[in-house]
Amino acid sequence: MGWGVEVASEAKHERRIEAIARGLICAGEPARVLLCQHVKHGYFYLPGGHIEAGETAAQALVREMQEEAGVHVTAGALVHVHEHAFEQKGKPRQEVNLTHAARLATTDGRVQDVRSQEDGIAFAWLTLEELLLADLRPAAMRPWLCEALAMHPVLPTLTHDAHDARAERPAVFLDRDGTIIREVHYIARPEQVELLPGAAEAIASLRAAGFACVMVSNQSGVGRGMVSQRDMWLVQAEVTRQLARAGTRLDGVYFCPIAPPADADGSADRRSRVDHLDRKPGPGMLLRARAELRLTMEQSWMVGDMLSDVLAGVHAGCRGMIHVRTGHGASQPEASARASFSAENLAEAARIVLRERGR
Ligand SMILES: [Mg+2]
Repeated sequence: MGWGVEVASEAKHERRIEAIARGLICAGEPARVLLCQHVKHGYFYLPGGHIEAGETAAQALVREMQEEAGVHVTAGALVHVHEHAFEQKGKPRQEVNLTHAARLATTDGRVQDVRSQEDGIAFAWLTLEELLLADLRPAAMRPWLCEALAMHPVLPTLTHDAHDARAERPAVFLDRDGTIIREVHYIARPEQVELLPGAAEAIASLRAAGFACVMVSNQSGVGRGMVSQRDMWLVQAEVTRQLARAGTRLDGVYFCPIAPPADADGSADRRSRVDHLDRKPGPGMLLRARAELRLTMEQSWMVGDMLSDVLAGVHAGCRGMIHVRTGHGASQPEASARASFSAENLAEAARIVLRERGR
């Protein structure tokens, strides 16, 4: 039934890419997403399946949802392209999952109860709060599922196709606290979220120019036990809602919840020392985004209010780093010194990126 796609490259003999259309179905208020649940082990995953010969991913999604869940859906935007490598029977394999957003074509949202079937899968509608606590496979889909749910119902109106999403594109990596939203020490509640003036417009202008806007945020409050993962995501959902209200969105969201080692806070080099690959100034989140979102670092920028933001961009090999003087920015002269440019805020940073494009 599946349609294996041979990779036309030198890796052809060791790798085989299977194109898989995954269904992301959002519905209702509050928004819910339809997931499959493995009855025996309890974990959740996206419904979907292989693309058959001659089908587009969107057509496969519609067919698979009809076959698997018994629901009629209308395919919308491509939400995410996720590649992961794994071993099967001792051979390396690479899989590409295409996640489409889809709209229910019927209003009842009822799905087949397939628990009695051999597959051992059931279907479940999960709200954002349930998604935060669920055992997801792969767990890495939690950020973009949360994003997609928070975007609902804006999301199905977005249109781009798989080819666009799979071509390499430049990014602007954005710090969140003090860059996109007002700085709040260990922010933990949605009502504390306030977009900085001009931030949404800046993101919209960068996206319109073809840049992926990818948020990369250290949230050491989680690692320190001061903020829960759940609260971290509820705060992020509010950021997404406010951006959606302003007519834009982020293309990717990455968090590093790891706390620095105990001796780091008092050390002189605490903002420049890499104590974990993912924790800025480590480049881990940017590098992961590069692979997952197919970004070209040579044309990408990093924007943030701290020296650690600037250095994360340096370490990841970005084309340029812009230090903004919002948030903690005014008290970070060393960040301005290391950055390619200093800007008053994200709005000015976006203007610099657009001005420098093609130079
Ligand atoms: Mg910041």
